[in-house]
Amino acid sequence: MKERYPKLEINLSALRHNVEEVVGACGEQGVSVTGVIKGVTGLPEVSKVFAEGGVKIIASSRLEQLRDAKEHGIEKPLMMLRVPMMSEIEEVVSLCDYSLNSEIAVLEALNEEAAKQSKKHSVVLMVDLGDLREGFWNKNEFVETALRVENEMDSLYLAGIGTNVGCYGSILPTVEKLEELVELAKIIETKIGRKLDIVSGGATSSFMRIIDKNIPKDINSLRMGEVILLARDLWLFYGYNVDNLRKDVFTLKAEVIEVKSKPSHPQGEIGVDAFGKKPLYVDRGLRNRALIAIGKVDYGDPSELFPKDAGIEIMGASSDHTILDVEDYQGSLKPGDILEFDINYASLVYLTNCKNVRIAFCED
Ligand SMILES: *Cc1c(COP(=O)(O)O)cnc(C)c1O
Repeated sequence: MKERYPKLEINLSALRHNVEEVVGACGEQGVSVTGVIKGVTGLPEVSKVFAEGGVKIIASSRLEQLRDAKEHGIEKPLMMLRVPMMSEIEEVVSLCDYSLNSEIAVLEALNEEAAKQSKKHSVVLMVDLGDLREGFWNKNEFVETALRVENEMDSLYLAGIGTNVGCYGSILPTVEKLEELVELAKIIETKIGRKLDIVSGGATSSFMRIIDKNIPKDINSLRMGEVILLARDLWLFYGYNVDNLRKDVFTLKAEVIEVKSKPSHPQGEIGVDAFGKKPLYVDRGLRNRALIAIGKVDYGDPSELFPKDAGIEIMGASSDHTILDVEDYQGSLKPGDILEFDINYASLVYLTNCKNVRIAFCED
């Protein structure tokens, strides 16, 4: 059988290394890792490496992905990351050990459903410290709700509290920000007369506090995907040294279908492109170009792909084609050749979600 393309190759040895490094670094500072699998659309092979590498909880924003993990025999506790829809309460309770929450109506529905299923469902209450996505904004309401869960909702267990930063509002997980979460945890702990199991201080961006070794001591959990899967963002955006983490977990391979010398500026009257946009075309004269058989449908945005070979530049794309400038590429290209690309979180999410893209696993 001929190999089929496009293909996303996943190096499980590299992934295993990253899980162990991140779990180890967090462990030294009293922080457990919740492994977030939504970046790879919940591929069970990835969840399995997460579980074997020592993450405490497997988490996703999508129930389908958590169900996949369970059906593939992963025995770690499962956490629903996105605050539940009212329409999915029954499955949240039957499938997940934990859910993140920010609405009293949802908590009431979870409590009722958990009673019906004779279960105790664990909840982590989310507080919004300025990023303006999910979470209670009013701190009194937040504390009051925690007390209501603790004292009045018999089928729920108040496992802890958490926050999310660096998602919508681009807020940084500074020590001061995380101390705000710790303060709220202390207020709640005093009122309920016990420690909370989980004080969850954010996602990959909070790993900066682990690297700096200044995470407030009462933060005992982080929910992370990107730094384990790709380890790109902390270096790229904040200059953090993550040299100990491998950047070669994912390699995208796409097949060349046409190689021709063509003008770089379209010829004729310019209207709109396949997506109704009016891009700017730079006239660089006649250039050698290659077409590869992969497009926006597969990865979203061509600027989120990074050619591994020198001398290859991405010019643009339509649904099913990507156009490369290969004028400066050393070597010859012909139909059937395979080109390799690094990817980032955005393209990873699309590629793993796409039926046209074959997923292949390898080891070192
Ligand atoms: C996606 C998500 C995470 C993980 O984000 P990364 O940046 O990939 O680490 C953590 N918490 C919540 C609530 C999320 O939705």
